[in-house]
Amino acid sequence: MIECILFDMGNTLIDFEPEPFASLHREALGRVHRALAPRVDADGFSDAFASVWGALERRHRPDGRQPHLGDAFRGVLDRLEIPADPGVLTRMEDAHFSVFRERIRLYPEVPRLLDRCRDRGLKLALVSNTIWRSDDHRADLARFGIADAFDHQVYSRDFGWMKPHPSIFRDALDAVGVAPERSVMIGDRLSVDIAGARALGCRTILRRHEHTWEGRDPACVPDAEVDDLADLLERLDALAAQ
Ligand SMILES: [Mg+2]
Repeated sequence: MIECILFDMGNTLIDFEPEPFASLHREALGRVHRALAPRVDADGFSDAFASVWGALERRHRPDGRQPHLGDAFRGVLDRLEIPADPGVLTRMEDAHFSVFRERIRLYPEVPRLLDRCRDRGLKLALVSNTIWRSDDHRADLARFGIADAFDHQVYSRDFGWMKPHPSIFRDALDAVGVAPERSVMIGDRLSVDIAGARALGCRTILRRHEHTWEGRDPACVPDAEVDDLADLLERLDALAAQ
């Protein structure tokens, strides 16, 4: 019996890489720099960001915690000796996310899929790793017309720990009141979505797509795979029958 679906967001429900992430991120940092100009030159900003982000990654990732842009931009301002007032931090975050907001798109089959899941009485939760503000994502879900589809949303930036840390999956399951063995996680990252949820006892479905770049891992095999989200309920029925 399956009572709950945990959804990854980026590249599972929403296409976050219509262009390679690295080039979008580079363009986004250019906009952030322009939000600060002329107080700092482009090279100085770029060097400061690389150094601060590297330090955040080294500090947080070993413990499974989420490094994010809020801390990064605060660190950059500190390093550049620019007062970190809330206005400037907001402009930096707005500038970075604006590049992605202009490009990301909801996969067209998602609204109908979510409706069908809800018609079946399934609990739905969103479990997302993100460097951006959760309010930005909530605004996009509203723009795409799916804000009310989820019983619970948890974002690593707010939560602190990121997938595959078990606590973020546990948060979602506790919120909807469903045991791991009665839930299915669907996501596009084996090492993040599938490994983390499997470790907790959830069943798992890998969402394959054109951006998939991770190699296969014989120690982390999902229970099912889909290329088209429209096939998800069929896969769920097959899993439930096992
Ligand atoms: Mg993803």
